Amino acid sequence: MLLLISGTHGVEGFCGSGVQVSYLTDRLHDAFPPGTATLLIYALNPYGFAWRRRVNEDSIDRNRNFRDFNVPLPDGSA
Ligand SMILES: [Zn+2]
Repeated sequence: MLLLISGTHGVEGFCGSGVQVSYLTDRLHDAFPPGTATLLIYALNPYGFAWRRRVNEDSIDRNRNFRDFNVPLPDGSA
């Protein structure tokens, strides 16, 4: 599966959504083997996209705040 996300950082959503549209209109998916799926997520950070900010409405940078599941989770985490 190919995952294409746009707008993780707000202002990048303009470029990223253009890439997603081109992926579809130029039929770039035809280059993949049969059975390959594509998941497009548009404007992952809609607040940042709307306000042209890197962070979301909670001032969180989604590309800098992630959990590494290869290490044990801290106590109390779900
Ligand atoms: Zn970015």
